[in-house]
Amino acid sequence: MIHTLPDTFEAAPDCLQGKNILVTGAGDGIGRAAALTYARHGATVVLLGKTVEKLEAVYDEIEASGGPQPAIYPLHLNGAVFKDYEDLRDTLEKEFGALHGLLHNASVLGERKAIGQTSVDSWNEVMQVNVNAQFMLTRSLLPIMDIPDTASVIFTSSSVGRTGRAYWGAYAVSKFATEGLVQVLADELANTSNIRVNSLNPGATNTAMRRAAYPGESPDTNPMPEEIMPLYLYLMSDASREQTGLQWNAQNT
Ligand code: NDP
Repeated sequence: MIHTLPDTFEAAPDCLQGKNILVTGAGDGIGRAAALTYARHGATVVLLGKTVEKLEAVYDEIEASGGPQPAIYPLHLNGAVFKDYEDLRDTLEKEFGALHGLLHNASVLGERKAIGQTSVDSWNEVMQVNVNAQFMLTRSLLPIMDIPDTASVIFTSSSVGRTGRAYWGAYAVSKFATEGLVQVLADELANTSNIRVNSLNPGATNTAMRRAAYPGESPDTNPMPEEIMPLYLYLMSDASREQTGLQWNAQNT
């Protein structure tokens, strides 16, 4: 069953006050919008991504709008090894004590080809960034997410991670793996932790990834990342503290 934003939810301006939230792929697209939105609602945001200039631009935007001072953590998810994630955890623990939210957003599209034509290098890169990095990041951060009385992990899925489709290759398979990780982790944590885990499909959104996947489509066919933020806020705020192990869609269509 697919869930959508409850009609009754309205994000209070300070609904993320006092929360420390890490966003991957925070420099562009949906991750950028989520980082800015979370900061606007009071969160201290850790901006993780691979292009430092983009992260700095988001940092400056948050500072200029008077949000809590964010932090930048440059990391190439395709090259990072588990020690890098442990170092990140140690840094966050030292600087912030605990983490209340983790948005797994960064992904790569890889080759849009038939499985029979997909290069092994492209397959491996997609699996490394979209699956292995998410596992390592989650595994290293769970201890500092277990400290607060409630914490939220959001994994980003896709419609091709729920029903397979020709020529979506490693990307689709990586999103199925993401859905599997959500189910296994949510089940494990349901009775042992205050950490909730959900899968969020943003739906077609006007970003660089969407434009690369559909070069023939007029970009303004789709909403801008800012327009799909209500569900991102709901799942990160305490309003969703009872929700775990579920599949969500940010758009109704
Ligand atoms: P974009 O390509 O616009 O942004 C992806 C972000 O991830 C960028 O900030 C990028 O950094 C970062 N990133 C990519 N590779 C790495 C890496 N190796 N290490 C660190 N950071 C990396 O994508 P979207 O905003 O469109 O997508 C966000 C999420 O939503 C993804 O998980 C995607 O699969 C999902 N999604 C998107 C849809 C859409 O229509 N847009 C539809 C369904 C799902 P940099 O800019 O520095 O390269």
